[in-house]
Amino acid sequence: MPQIPMHVTRLRLTNFRNYRLLELEPPPGLVLLVGENAQGKTNLLEAMFYLSTSRSPRTTRDAELVAWQVPEGDQRVARAEATVMRAHGRITLDVTVMAKADARPSPPSPDDDAGDFVAAAPGAQKRIRVNGVPKRAMDLLGNFPVALFRPEDVELVTAAPAVRRRSVDILISQLEPRYPRALQRYARAVTQRNHLLKQMQDHNVGHEQLAPWDDLLVRDGVYIIAERLRALARLSPLAAEAHEAISGSRDRLTMQYRPTAAAPDPSQDAAALDAAFREALAAALRRDVAMGQTTVGPHRDDVALLINGAPAGDYGSRGQQRTAALGWRLAEAAYLREVSHEPPVVLLDDVLSELDALRREAVLEAMAPFDQVFLTTTGAELSGTAMRPAVVFTIHRGALVV
Ligand code: ATP
Ligand code: MG
Repeated sequence: MPQIPMHVTRLRLTNFRNYRLLELEPPPGLVLLVGENAQGKTNLLEAMFYLSTSRSPRTTRDAELVAWQVPEGDQRVARAEATVMRAHGRITLDVTVMAKADARPSPPSPDDDAGDFVAAAPGAQKRIRVNGVPKRAMDLLGNFPVALFRPEDVELVTAAPAVRRRSVDILISQLEPRYPRALQRYARAVTQRNHLLKQMQDHNVGHEQLAPWDDLLVRDGVYIIAERLRALARLSPLAAEAHEAISGSRDRLTMQYRPTAAAPDPSQDAAALDAAFREALAAALRRDVAMGQTTVGPHRDDVALLINGAPAGDYGSRGQQRTAALGWRLAEAAYLREVSHEPPVVLLDDVLSELDALRREAVLEAMAPFDQVFLTTTGAELSGTAMRPAVVFTIHRGALVV
């Protein structure tokens, strides 16, 4: 029986960013989204990522997604809907964002890094439906796996650890329904524990009061670390393979989990991770009290990206950093495909424009195993490549040009 290609068959956007109303019926294969700058190409990919994760890759403030030009008196509501074909059948997705009238930016809390991915969005309300049934944000994950590539991915190489943690967390969350729940509980435990640490500075609160929070922290923390170690053990060789193909060099790319509370060894069992985490918490106790912060645990861990053993951030040209980031993203896409036995829908935003011809060709070649690939472009850079698009959509000022 021929396998049904995993693909979006229908996308509908209402008052989403610069789209008043968009209806798109993309076929499987390479879907080209062509348009000048600032016409809505990225907004369209963002909408699909949003339907996959109920998170924007660009902002934590969902209210920003609502079109500015909603007529006076109308509710400030943005809606994204999609129909997705999967091996086991058709799925309809519907995410609606209602901006609150008093939506006002609030300063990020110092604990934001503990659970950025699952934190609630300020200034907006969301309604999520899968096949018409209301769902929580976490239950949306996994219905519509996507792999998004953006020019900003170079931050995987250059930015702070939070960017890399978030990426790995989103990846695992698409595959393991338990994982985002554990992340959320863990983030709450960190916040509570930090609160108690601060009280310990001022009052005579005994250290023994930390014990229940430490237990909570360790329980979910060990699971989170184990999942990340497991994912990284597979991602690293996939990234090396992808990187070799696109860089055309023998430079070896490695991804390595760098835990603050355990050894970076994927073969550790839960008992060993548990012991290591408790030991690290005990060793950090004085510092934690002084800072009023939990300084060890998966919310502080990092993923090292190395080229020939040296940190990619310190290494080579911007182009080489870009290639390393592409290697990471390609590894994620391959991992999603491998673990879920279905290829994710690939969203390539502007990734070709900064690559030379050989690398461009290699990236497009790497897309062969995926059933549907959306690629944004201003037009020029596709000439001379072998890959033929299944369809070309031209986008102008938030509308399809027909
Ligand atoms: P480029 O080629 O430069 O990347 P693009 O086609 O990807 O351009 P988008 O990032 O999708 O462009 O943005 C299109 C336009 O949408 C921008 O001009 C931006 O200002 C506008 N925009 C962003 N948010 C909203 C919103 N909430 N309401 C209306 N317009 C918005
Ligand atoms: Mg763009």
